[in-house]
Amino acid sequence: MTFTIHGIGVSGGIAIGHAHLVSRAKLEAAHYSVPPHQIAEESARFDAAIRAVRAEFEELRTNVPATAPAEFAAFINLHLTILDDSTLSAVPRSIIETEQCNAEWALKVQMDALLARFDEIEDDYLRERKADVIQVVERIMKRLTGQPGYIPPPPTNGEHSLILVAHDLSPADVVQFKRHRFASFITDLGGATSHTAVVARSLNIPSIVALHYARQLIRENELIIVDGTQGVVIVDPDRQALGEYRLRQHQFDIERRKLKRLKDTRPVTLDGVAVELQANIELPGDVAAARENGAMGIGLFRTEFLFLRRDGLPDEDEQFEAYRNVAQNMDGLPVTIRTYDLGADKHAEDSQPITVNPALGLRAIRLCLTEPQRFLTQLRAMLRASRYGKIRILIPMLMNAAEADQALQLIRQAKASLDDEGVPYDPDVEVGGMIEVPAAALALDMFTKKLDFLSIGTNDLIQYTLAVDRTDDTVAHLYDPLHPAVLGLLAHVFRTANKRGIPVALCGEMAGDVALTRLLLALGLRQYSMHAAHLLDVKQHILKSNLAEIRPLAAKMLRTTDSRKLRALLDRINA
Ligand code: PEP
Ligand code: MG
Repeated sequence: MTFTIHGIGVSGGIAIGHAHLVSRAKLEAAHYSVPPHQIAEESARFDAAIRAVRAEFEELRTNVPATAPAEFAAFINLHLTILDDSTLSAVPRSIIETEQCNAEWALKVQMDALLARFDEIEDDYLRERKADVIQVVERIMKRLTGQPGYIPPPPTNGEHSLILVAHDLSPADVVQFKRHRFASFITDLGGATSHTAVVARSLNIPSIVALHYARQLIRENELIIVDGTQGVVIVDPDRQALGEYRLRQHQFDIERRKLKRLKDTRPVTLDGVAVELQANIELPGDVAAARENGAMGIGLFRTEFLFLRRDGLPDEDEQFEAYRNVAQNMDGLPVTIRTYDLGADKHAEDSQPITVNPALGLRAIRLCLTEPQRFLTQLRAMLRASRYGKIRILIPMLMNAAEADQALQLIRQAKASLDDEGVPYDPDVEVGGMIEVPAAALALDMFTKKLDFLSIGTNDLIQYTLAVDRTDDTVAHLYDPLHPAVLGLLAHVFRTANKRGIPVALCGEMAGDVALTRLLLALGLRQYSMHAAHLLDVKQHILKSNLAEIRPLAAKMLRTTDSRKLRALLDRINA
């Protein structure tokens, strides 16, 4: 039976394919059927994983580390009790047998059932044991799959038409898709500018978040249409819907191909104002798409993605290779490398969140400054790579002058250590700061004398200005780039930076939103950085803009607080 589900489209286009179900970010489990003659083997695999985890716990219990807190032994005992309870050690086995499915899926189904029961418990202490159940399940899952949070690659036959259906995905999960291509992905949770959505845009595949019940409603292998532009999923479409969407998909592809002709055209407005269009990347491999779409540089290299989904951290040489690779492949064009922005919704395997409010916690430069050794490793790698192109260092999430001073001091320290070793680097590497905390935007002069350039991160600037968690779909409707406070802050930053003569770019998702291209231009933006997929579309809008005409309308928007009038003025700017 055909039905539709609505969510937030985060990356446009249309995908038609078969559903491939996976579960929660840290407990990914694909579903697949196990033939009757292999059921005993599958059950044995499950039992072996339980035995292995039990052995792990027993080993831990007999060798309690000297530095462990007093509760450690009690904690291990609790986990052993959870593991040995038949709800975890036996029920999944019967699910494997009755549903003829794989062990991971059976474990996940049983965990979801257990967690739902926990939610109904009134006793706070018992309810909080939910986290312990999750941790035990994670260990079993790790044994079953070989690593935590593993999304099995899709089957190789016809993998391009697979649509991944998940309750939630972490940015690290999505970055994996750069290796295993899916036609599209859709999730129950997520906000439009969460890092998961941000990475989805870089994949340039249609995707939708905040569908709420997609994973419950859609069955494995079911045919679905994903309209990423409208944020709509059509499940089990009839022939007429299929025909219509195939046609739209075809038209979308033709439009994209037409845009390719603009690749080498300089982005200049009708009245002669030139702008720079650069690309955001997550991994060195993204440079190819940046070049294909005529990027005039890399405006943001989110290096933290080099730190995700791996055992251990990348050492200096590995990072150096990555940065050099990008610098060389950009042939002397500017490459803005952001120091790692871990914390909040992105975590290296060895540092899981320990705070309830991670976006306001130890994130980005705050985290870097608490781990100077790790930070210095990255700075040295960047400096070493600076010989191979025009590398610029960008510091994320600056909030006060002391953070900028400390970062600059560490850069000097990294340079000194390279000098001592006689390792060459570009001594004039520019250092910039991201303006993504309202305090930094309002008190911009804290940075204008210290830094060489600025880059506005509107994804966070909006999150922090409006107090709207960018990853939380329940407040996604409140996330508003046109809020007068946001427009006021942007105008203030452009004005102040221009007055002080410091270049300012914008690298948040607003830069790639063609509905906002002209508004940003009229407010004073001249350097945009966005995922490669949007570059040519934005260029097309720049080429058709007349700054003199739209500037007064943008000025009017800055004096307006009524949201309907703001929308109407934006429509006039875009007319
Ligand atoms: C931003 O906040 O706008 C930004 C570009 O950084 P990120 O999305 O990685 O937080
Ligand atoms: Mg940011």
